Amino acid sequence: TMELLQKLEKLRVVGQLAAGVAHEIRNPLTTIRGFLQLNRGRFDNKGTVELMLSELDRINMIISEFLVLAKPQATRLQLKDLRETMQQVIAFLESEALLTHANFELHTEPDLPPVQCDENQIKQLFLNVLKNAQESMPDGGTIRIEMSRRRQDGVGIRITDQGCGIPEDRMSRLGEPFYTTKDSGTGLGLMVSFKIVENHGGSLRIASNRDCGTIVDIELPAVLSPP
Ligand code: ADP
Ligand code: MG
Repeated sequence: TMELLQKLEKLRVVGQLAAGVAHEIRNPLTTIRGFLQLNRGRFDNKGTVELMLSELDRINMIISEFLVLAKPQATRLQLKDLRETMQQVIAFLESEALLTHANFELHTEPDLPPVQCDENQIKQLFLNVLKNAQESMPDGGTIRIEMSRRRQDGVGIRITDQGCGIPEDRMSRLGEPFYTTKDSGTGLGLMVSFKIVENHGGSLRIASNRDCGTIVDIELPAVLSPP
């Protein structure tokens, strides 16, 4: 156990370091991007500017997909009504004009119990899973979100899309860092999602049928039990 503890401590330190670095990279990145955009006209080769901008966007995306997880400050636990958190994430995605127009359908129990959690992490979790659902339906469709009470006042969140589905032989690779089937994917979203659920003592399961989309089932306990 001593060895395990040392290992965990090492992981924590590395995690915090990565977090610090991620935050530090963000600001200069924003400066460079702004400068490039302002001076677009001064470059002879337009293709190069576009490429630089899209590469910067890619770095930014990689950072944002795991930023919350890696936040330098300690996990902040509070009792939270996750319906609000979900509504905020949906509102954010609906405001993002970049992505396709998927409809979100939110169904919740009227007396959903609050959950002890770090809200930033849960936001990132919902965001990563909902983004995948959106991206699986480039021509639009409906994303159904059901939130319900589970045993011992835990909460279950089921997200169902009508997208392309996941072939059986790819299932085991989900959550592997940098595993992506998308041209501009990072392959970090699910890895981070699994990690966040684990941090909360919950579970995340994915089931899929190539013909009728994917179901992501998340369960979060009401109270975090000590590790
Ligand atoms: P990314 O979205 O950047 O590719 P993720 O870790 O979020 O990385 O997802 C990894 C892969 O899992 C995706 O590239 C995709 O192949 C598959 N996947 C995840 N969610 C879904 C979904 N809802 N429908 C279809 N495929 C999915
Ligand atoms: Mg993703």
